[in-house]
Amino acid sequence: MRASMPVLFIGHGSPLNAVADNAFSRFLRELGKSLPKPRAILVVSAHWETPEPRVLTGEAPRTIHDFRGFPQALFDIRYAAAGAPLLSARVAELTGAGEDSRWGFDHGTWSVLTHLYPQAEVPVVQLSLGALSPRAHYELARKLKPLREEGVLLVASGNITHNLRELSGKEDAPAAPWAAAFDEKIRAALVARDLPTLLLETGNEEEWNRAHPRIDHYLPLLYALGAGEDSGSPSFPYEGFQYGTLSMRAVRYG
Ligand code: ZN
Repeated sequence: MRASMPVLFIGHGSPLNAVADNAFSRFLRELGKSLPKPRAILVVSAHWETPEPRVLTGEAPRTIHDFRGFPQALFDIRYAAAGAPLLSARVAELTGAGEDSRWGFDHGTWSVLTHLYPQAEVPVVQLSLGALSPRAHYELARKLKPLREEGVLLVASGNITHNLRELSGKEDAPAAPWAAAFDEKIRAALVARDLPTLLLETGNEEEWNRAHPRIDHYLPLLYALGAGEDSGSPSFPYEGFQYGTLSMRAVRYG
């Protein structure tokens, strides 16, 4: 039997990280070299929201440039990984997600994988964020656990704080106190496996609304939690902020 694969949550930040040489991109490059080689990668990206959960299928998914106002270099990126139709079918079987051949690799996926696996040699499948409650996302994520024994690396891609209205103009601006406090609260809740906090069943609504005017970038974290928590307490292989309010914290189980 294969060893259990790790589960990752990556705070992806700006699409510019895809072409940047900074502490975050160098972290991803080193991480990719140190991970056991997966048979395939399943990504849950903040940038694919659907009414009900869907899994990307197809032999060669397209690269989606789902942003505006960025340099041409970003629009020129093609992440040429193959799809993995058998994994798509397996994810559909485990979760009840519907298959979808229209989506492709969005920038929540390729801005991370372009550093993690620059050669794009590992097949990739995406699972969407259905319109579910936080607890339902977590329960769905728990159904993905068997994939870890099947050589599949789960990469959840979002951000622990994400309020684009409160970004500083400077990538290296110091962290705003409210953003640092929220990031620390989530770190502590992950370590304590404090589900009521992590699943938004308790807590201060104002604080959540400031950290996440929309919840899309938080929800992928619940996939790392649900699929990974059997490995015990997580580690945090990357911590830091970009633009003062964007937590770039990464979380690793196993
Ligand atoms: Zn994003």
